[in-house]
Amino acid sequence: MRMHAVDAELVDLIQSYVAERLSLPETPLDHPGSKAQVDALLDGLVTPEGRDPRQVLDLYADHLSQTVLSADSPRFFAFIPAAPTKAALLFDMVVSAASLQGISWLEAAGAVAAENQALRWIADAAGLPADAGGAFVSGGSAGNLSALVVARDTQRHRLVESDGEAARHRRLRVAVSDQAHSSITNTLSILDVDALVVRTADHRLTGDALRAALDADPDPDTVVAVVATSGTTNAGIIDDLAGVGAVARERGLWFHVDGAYGGAGLFAPSVRERYAGIELADSLVVDPHKWLFAPFDCAALIYRRPRLAKAVHTQDASYLDAIHADDGSYEWNPTDYAYHLTRRARGLPLWFSLVVNGTDAYTDAIEHAISLARAVGAEIESAPHLELVREPSLGVVLFRRRGWTAQDYDAWGARLLREQVAFITSTSWEGETIGRFAFLHPGTTLDMVREVLATTA
Ligand SMILES: *Cc1c(COP(=O)(O)O)cnc(C)c1O
Repeated sequence: MRMHAVDAELVDLIQSYVAERLSLPETPLDHPGSKAQVDALLDGLVTPEGRDPRQVLDLYADHLSQTVLSADSPRFFAFIPAAPTKAALLFDMVVSAASLQGISWLEAAGAVAAENQALRWIADAAGLPADAGGAFVSGGSAGNLSALVVARDTQRHRLVESDGEAARHRRLRVAVSDQAHSSITNTLSILDVDALVVRTADHRLTGDALRAALDADPDPDTVVAVVATSGTTNAGIIDDLAGVGAVARERGLWFHVDGAYGGAGLFAPSVRERYAGIELADSLVVDPHKWLFAPFDCAALIYRRPRLAKAVHTQDASYLDAIHADDGSYEWNPTDYAYHLTRRARGLPLWFSLVVNGTDAYTDAIEHAISLARAVGAEIESAPHLELVREPSLGVVLFRRRGWTAQDYDAWGARLLREQVAFITSTSWEGETIGRFAFLHPGTTLDMVREVLATTA
């Protein structure tokens, strides 16, 4: 078969494209694309006999890829940017080239053990016990869903044990703050679990607020879990994890911490104390594809007691019996810890980069974004036409340009992107449209941001 034959020319073609991309000192931001434009590029492309790969790669490199904004540009300040290390990007190619799956210990012992070494690094930073563990999943959303399924089923099981069969059909609830990530809302809807929404003062969930909400609730026994965020995507705010964790212990709630964006701050000594209490988590999500410089798509999902997750997520099929050891020998099947079966060994790019670069390099790169956010905050405070909405937290800066409406922020952002100066989107804060920088890329300099701020004058 031609398409499976060794093809040195194709290898060279792709390798040289990749080499060129990886040699760029700064990836170009590029532009949004219209439907008509990309449709025209793709029209009639798929044929029975196939096409010359060089022609298709040119179409991708010269046209399609230009309509893909580079999340790893140091000028990408919108949403949450990406900044994968070179080692991680290159090892991602190894994972693909070797079809490295990470389903079970039987099939992939070395890959699974290496992934677990990277998970261990995160679990240790959080102060979770030595037997904590889990798996890398596709993203924070998948991690939150998988963790809260375990929370629901574990707690349901406990209720049935204590209250009898009637508890099997009781409606359950999860306490969340009004600042929880949108994926939490979606998760609860999928799980058919209601939310007890705890109002926050200053956008931060505290143990006191949680306790007060439970005390004021007519039916607090139906609340079986609580979700805290460390930190929020919009503002980088870290909930009172110690307070929330203590209430969770006291009331028997499952304590889930969503650190998809901000969990990386665990490695930054300048902010580490704000995470006090994270060690109480029953489950924790941290996205390496955000602030731990791994390629998409990679989220770490870690449980305090992995056997609870295994009891919920293990898929039972006769053809899978072989991956479950019955002779007592060691086994760790990543597939048993989340809602998935087949999975690529997506933790390996992080693992390779971590081992190659060393942990200090991670600390330095994370601290860079935090200190840049502080420096930009100071610049904003000193500009009379700008206003800092709140003290920057982690890598996020919220600011206001006096006199601007939502349309002004949009027009400004569009112009900056057109001129390839930056990609920046506005956000909403207490009902108002404001400006927001999300810093993460170690290549982002204060001068780049000054160039952006200069255009607000
Ligand atoms: C990004 C994010 C998520 C969702 O993670 P994905 O990897 O995009 O699925 C969940 N929670 C928080 C706090 C996030 O920042």
